[in-house]
Amino acid sequence: MEHAGRIAFVTGGGSGIGRAIALRLASAGAAVAVVDLHAGAAEAVAAEIRAGGGRAIAVAADVSAARAVADAAARARAELGTPSILVNSAGIAAFDPIATLAEETFDRMIAVHLKGTFLACRELAPAMAEAGWGRIVNVSSTAALNGGGPGLSHYAAAKAGVIGLTKSLAQELGPRGVTVNAIAPGLIDTPLIRGAGAPEGLYDEVVRRLPVRRIGQPDDVAAACAYLVSDEAGFCTGQVISPNGGAA
Ligand code: NAP
Repeated sequence: MEHAGRIAFVTGGGSGIGRAIALRLASAGAAVAVVDLHAGAAEAVAAEIRAGGGRAIAVAADVSAARAVADAAARARAELGTPSILVNSAGIAAFDPIATLAEETFDRMIAVHLKGTFLACRELAPAMAEAGWGRIVNVSSTAALNGGGPGLSHYAAAKAGVIGLTKSLAQELGPRGVTVNAIAPGLIDTPLIRGAGAPEGLYDEVVRRLPVRRIGQPDDVAAACAYLVSDEAGFCTGQVISPNGGAA
């Protein structure tokens, strides 16, 4: 198994895309720290991995809080070993027109997506660089590339920040054997999009215009991630891969 003996740290691992990535990494032999805001969601995924014969722990943490991320990393190191794979998938989404976009809502969007990604990278990248091998995958969004549509300015800005962070870290960490890439998914069927308060009919309209004529599934994103964290992807860094069904 490709990742036997490796440790993965997956934020947002309790649901949707992060869950699919955690399960996929575990099936490739990695021990997984499933990190999520909600202990119960993280534990359900960790238990699923253990039931399948893998190693996993659940860690409840808010990725926007430096202390919580440091504690989560410490637990992963103590109970599993030093992570060499980091996937930042924790996220939130909401539709807020600019006229009524509250400062706290904007700040929270940036804190979870951009600061959370920064904090986890800061916590885990040094040991990867020290060891001379590491893989970091940051989940951005097509919204970072095309704006996402009305009401998503905070979300698009946070996700665009993730791409800038990714590209700069790729330059910084490349010489030490650590690749850093972003995935920019299109519309993926997860609890996040169902709870985001999208305008009626928006998702149906998006899917109707997609060349593949279907909504994406978490495994569509996990497949892209599996490539980016693989040994054979060592020449791929600072890139944005976009599983999006062919969205324009
Ligand atoms: P999801 O099913 O809601 O999973 C995200 C997980 O992250 C949830 O368990 C969520 O908990 C957790 N989370 C939220 N805030 C957190 C925090 N501060 N600290 C730790 N965990 C936190 O959503 P998803 O669709 O899989 O999204 C995963 C990533 O993909 C997100 O970054 C999202 O922006 C991105 N993305 C999604 C789509 C899509 O169409 N689904 C498209 C492009 C990009 P709660 O449930 O409590 O919020």
